[in-house]
Amino acid sequence: MVLAVLATALGGWLGYYLGHWLNLQHLAAAIGAGCAVMLVVMLDSIRAHRLMNWLRGDASGPAPRGVGLWAELGYRMERGLRDRERVADRERLSLEQFLHAIEASPNGVMLLDAQDHIQWCNSVAADHFSLDPNRDRLQRVTNLVRYPAFVTYLQAGQFAQPLTLSNARGKATLQVIVRVYGEQNRLVLSLDITDRERAEAMRRDFVANVSHEIRTPLTVLAGFIETMASLNLTEAERKRVLHLMQQQTHRMQTLVGDLLTLAQLEGSPRPAADHWVALDPLLGRVGSDAIALSAGRHQIVLERMTGVEIAGVETELLSAVANLMSNAVRYTPEGGRIELQWRPGAEGGGEIAVVDNGPGIAREHLPRLSERFYRVDGSRSRDTGGTGLGLSIVKHVVQRHGGELRIDSEVGQGSRFRLVFPAARVRRSDDPALGEESAPALLAGSDKEAA
Ligand code: ADP
Repeated sequence: MVLAVLATALGGWLGYYLGHWLNLQHLAAAIGAGCAVMLVVMLDSIRAHRLMNWLRGDASGPAPRGVGLWAELGYRMERGLRDRERVADRERLSLEQFLHAIEASPNGVMLLDAQDHIQWCNSVAADHFSLDPNRDRLQRVTNLVRYPAFVTYLQAGQFAQPLTLSNARGKATLQVIVRVYGEQNRLVLSLDITDRERAEAMRRDFVANVSHEIRTPLTVLAGFIETMASLNLTEAERKRVLHLMQQQTHRMQTLVGDLLTLAQLEGSPRPAADHWVALDPLLGRVGSDAIALSAGRHQIVLERMTGVEIAGVETELLSAVANLMSNAVRYTPEGGRIELQWRPGAEGGGEIAVVDNGPGIAREHLPRLSERFYRVDGSRSRDTGGTGLGLSIVKHVVQRHGGELRIDSEVGQGSRFRLVFPAARVRRSDDPALGEESAPALLAGSDKEAA
């Protein structure tokens, strides 16, 4: 406005000056008006051009400044653009965060359009379906994924039930869930349920095994009860049947006891490392029980006076060592030799070892020995009162105490079962750092006693 007034004044003055000079008053007025209009139009178009150039460019800098309508227009356009950029930035950021969150998901996420083109997928989905998240974008997923069941499922469009893909990516089991959203777009979720499936299979096996183990003695008991009810037995026969019934009852009791022990071990927290159990009395008790169980059939060698304490739960440790000794007695033939030892570790810690010169165990069984109900020789195990849960209990106990169960065995050479404890769980009871009152009157060193 100001410029227009100035241009008009300048044009007027120029016209007046020219009119005076040429002595033509009317022409002077017309020229003045013409000049004024030309100047106004020129200035206007210069400013319009500047604004246009700014808009034609990327409009990243400020709009051309100045006064007047064009400047105001430029300023408002710039403000509008900046506002939209800010909104777009905010939305881009939240989209990025959203995608990062989905990327961090342990499950596969894939977005497909109505024609099954991959819009986006996270790296877990890429791994599940052997895709490349960048290269395969916008490709039709049904052309890329090698599971025919998945392709059929996607094409059928019935997504009420999830799809389970067994043996996907080697041995994995995948569960695929599809949800339709927007205009027939699809969200494909893939979950690796291998562990869940394995746990479920283990649970089923476990229930089947327990039922089988309980059904056998129950059937025997039922038979005996029927015999007693229907037949007139002599006193000797009655005693024999009662004895056999007692054996079966004992078998069930042992099984239920072992099951409860396992359930307790699995359900309770790790024992704290602040309660110390003296090893010598513990080994002594286990040794006496083994001697009683062997009833003179084996040579049993017990290591005494270890002077060691182990941090943990006495009943659990006792049950672990007792299980190993009972196995040694049950599986080693008459005349065999069984040793119960303590061996200190090189960096603190140490191990309780049960060594026998019995039949030994073939290499292929070793990794599975501590599985529940796994037996190398089922009938020998049952005949000697085994439940198939002993080594499973032992493994749980030692793991709860921060250690591990190691088994070395060779057929015909005997077996060595070791409970290996870490330094944090082992101390010597005569350690001066413990103070006088906590050091029991145990002697260091070892002394062997044969039974
Ligand atoms: P069980 O109650 O059958 O003894 P365990 O879990 O204690 O169950 O042992 C699993 C299997 O390992 C046994 O059935 C047996 O075949 C084998 N086993 C365990 N200890 C010994 C051993 N000292 N010598 C030979 N075989 C053994």
